[in-house]
Amino acid sequence: MNTTVTLNYEAFVNNPPPQNNGLLPNGEPKGGSPVASTLIYGSEDAVLTDPAFTKDQAHALGDWVAGKGRNLTDIFITHGHGDHWFAAGLLAGRFGARVVATAGTIAQMHGNVATRPLLWDKLYPGLIPPSPVTAVTVPDNRLTLEGHDVVMADVGHGDADDNSVLHVPDLGLVIAGDVIYNGVHMYLGQSAVSGFGPWREAIDKVEALGPRHIVCGHQDRRLDDDAKRTIAQTRQYLDDADELLSTEETALGYFNAKIERYPGYLGRLILWVTARALYGVREHPEEDPARITLSSWL
Ligand SMILES: [Zn+2]
Repeated sequence: MNTTVTLNYEAFVNNPPPQNNGLLPNGEPKGGSPVASTLIYGSEDAVLTDPAFTKDQAHALGDWVAGKGRNLTDIFITHGHGDHWFAAGLLAGRFGARVVATAGTIAQMHGNVATRPLLWDKLYPGLIPPSPVTAVTVPDNRLTLEGHDVVMADVGHGDADDNSVLHVPDLGLVIAGDVIYNGVHMYLGQSAVSGFGPWREAIDKVEALGPRHIVCGHQDRRLDDDAKRTIAQTRQYLDDADELLSTEETALGYFNAKIERYPGYLGRLILWVTARALYGVREHPEEDPARITLSSWL
């Protein structure tokens, strides 16, 4: 292994796209969460992760990547949720890069394409580019960047099923997608049936990789990327959610109580969607939970 070449990484945090579909219960306008992309680069080549989802985000991210002056070989997608990858085709075309993911994530990407007209294009009409699934798997889920291992690790359920993370051992770095969050409300809607046990197991798997740095899929750009802090805060957020689910009787009560505990967290739309999904599934056990979760967004 060639360790004479030093790798580096930098994150680019895109702003959420504009939204024009009403207010949150506390009167704030609805607005999504910032989305983080990471460039891991050597002296010549680079790998990009999670290239966001609107045309505007793709342009901003692409200009930032171009400014780094590296040859972009691969674009890695952590999980199927469209906000992390619907713009992958624009970036792949601009830089002549390949899109890569684990088999589990690729299956989830197809599912998200199927829900585009029911969800994404309703929330963000006209903003999202064509999003065919072009991602491919690579042998052993492993890339090499100028002699350094870049490893895709399946970790299971986070905010979606079949999450993976990107581990760069020589940087002590994990790109955690939506398994670990950093200063942003977590999307718990898809944990309504399973509870948070599977997510806690995924966090354990990230921790077992021994990272010093974690770039989260959704992060407040003012915060650092300390692995211990982000892991601890992600666990605490789930613990608080469990506690509030037992003490708060309504979605609105949960929403308000979370804001009280996390006044500085970004992405309150995600908090409200989460509250509606968790309480909706609880209050209507006879209904399809996937339909309740979907309608919680609209
Ligand atoms: Zn996400």
